[in-house]
Amino acid sequence: MSADYHTHTPLCLHAEGTPIQYIDAAIAAGLTEYGISDHAPLQKQDGSEPFDNWRMLTSQIPDYLEWINTAKTQAGDRINVRCGLECDWLPGLTNESWTQHLRSLHPWDYLIGSVHYIGTDQWDFDNPKWLGKWAKSEQDGDIHQAWDLYWKSYTAMADSGLYDILGHPDLIKKFGYKPSGDLTRYYEPAIDAIATAGSIIEINTAGLHKPCAEVYPDTAFLELARDAGIDLIISSDAHHPREVARDRDTAIGIAKAAGYTHTTLINQRQRSYVAL
Ligand code: ZN
Ligand code: ZN
Ligand code: FE
Ligand code: FE
Repeated sequence: MSADYHTHTPLCLHAEGTPIQYIDAAIAAGLTEYGISDHAPLQKQDGSEPFDNWRMLTSQIPDYLEWINTAKTQAGDRINVRCGLECDWLPGLTNESWTQHLRSLHPWDYLIGSVHYIGTDQWDFDNPKWLGKWAKSEQDGDIHQAWDLYWKSYTAMADSGLYDILGHPDLIKKFGYKPSGDLTRYYEPAIDAIATAGSIIEINTAGLHKPCAEVYPDTAFLELARDAGIDLIISSDAHHPREVARDRDTAIGIAKAAGYTHTTLINQRQRSYVAL
């Protein structure tokens, strides 16, 4: 039994492929569960959309459900198809009411919570258009400020208990910029919050293909998570059929090295466990 629960669809405007191609790729990769979790709709504070240019609109939820249904039809009884959303945790906004609204739209199997925006200026720090800003931050010795904002936000998201799964825990390292010294000072409050909330974390292999060239999260974070009894999934964050289950074996090795013995399956928010 193995699952990939964090994958996207072209509705987010930066992914490619048809439901049939993704399902065929998941079956070819030997998965037994394929989960679709595209970028959830978001509204600006005045209720307008689009919020940005990399997600579906609220009005496209029916298209999304149709996409999932086509995937289920293609899957037949060859692979289980699960459905969710990757939701954004925004600094200082109405995360709770919006997440409850999203949850009410469909009996999702799970919601993933992710931090892609930090600070009162809602900086989309993982957008490659900010590489120059990151380089300047490093010159100015300011990387720790971005990390502070990120981890405070991640910890608040975990504290909210709104999400079944928490996405790519240390995405803030995407471009390879890290503060000096032991990074566990950032991780520990987040780990405490995740353990208390009982959310699942993921090893997200997309990081291997970014400038940081590591999975999210790093091994120190994973070891703390394992010690805290936090459940784990392994996901690809595929934005193309060829990325489904990508680097799964690498992630399994990393999980085992951190002391994990099981990953988690999730169906209608109910968990079960499967040996690595
Ligand atoms: Zn994406
Ligand atoms: Zn569904
Ligand atoms: Fe993400
Ligand atoms: Fe994603």
